[in-house]
Amino acid sequence: MILGDVCTRACGFCAVKTGRPTWNDEDEPRRVAEAVRRMALEHCVVTSVARDDLPDGGAHIFAETIRALRRESPGMGVEVLIPDFNGDEAPLRTVMAAQPDILNHNIETVERLQRAVRKRARYDRSLGVLERAKAYAVEITGNTGTVHTKSSLMVGLGETREELSQAFRDLRVVDCDILTVGQYLRPTTNHLPLVRYYHPTEFAEMKAEALELGFKHVESGPLVRSSYHARDQVPVAARQRRSSVAAALAANGVA
Ligand code: SF4
Repeated sequence: MILGDVCTRACGFCAVKTGRPTWNDEDEPRRVAEAVRRMALEHCVVTSVARDDLPDGGAHIFAETIRALRRESPGMGVEVLIPDFNGDEAPLRTVMAAQPDILNHNIETVERLQRAVRKRARYDRSLGVLERAKAYAVEITGNTGTVHTKSSLMVGLGETREELSQAFRDLRVVDCDILTVGQYLRPTTNHLPLVRYYHPTEFAEMKAEALELGFKHVESGPLVRSSYHARDQVPVAARQRRSSVAAALAANGVA
């Protein structure tokens, strides 16, 4: 998680500290990339707190981190889980220009519960982030399929099954490729109450339904979180491209 440990928002399900962030570290991308290289990862997921205090929401740090990861770990899949940047165009373009393999932005819950669950966010704005991310990637690279988009939902917050189905459909309307669905677990008694637990068979049903709607990859289970099995979700073409880059570098004694 980059950009510090203090978030400018206070989502009802999240245990991250809320406040006025002071973290400002332009060297963070280099150090993150160095740490990741030393761990020799095959796939890396980078996320952040929301930084509504910064003019670009921290987008340039995301972009620099992606570029640094590419330099230090050329064969690795790179996924970013980004905030909504208040729906602004420029920060999202900045991130997409760095060409992550997977652009993840979570809608978290169904439309009706957005205000209670993530009061500074909006359902339509988040769908717009996913839609525009893909459009910008096409503009920047001239190719389709260079980035996969991904989103996540928690269940157990009081949503209905039909509302979940609608959320799945809404994500497919903006051509979201990957979906993760997991059980909400209440971090403390100060957080939103847990309304109910879903049975594993219900998660299996939701997975089948989402695949039927056209998602390329779905993870659905009680303990599934945004990054669950993330490595397996990298598009096959991107994985092959990255493997051949790594092999070429290794053959030349670079990696
Ligand atoms: S924006 Fe993200 S980190 Fe901040 S409170 Fe909401 S979920 Fe937690």
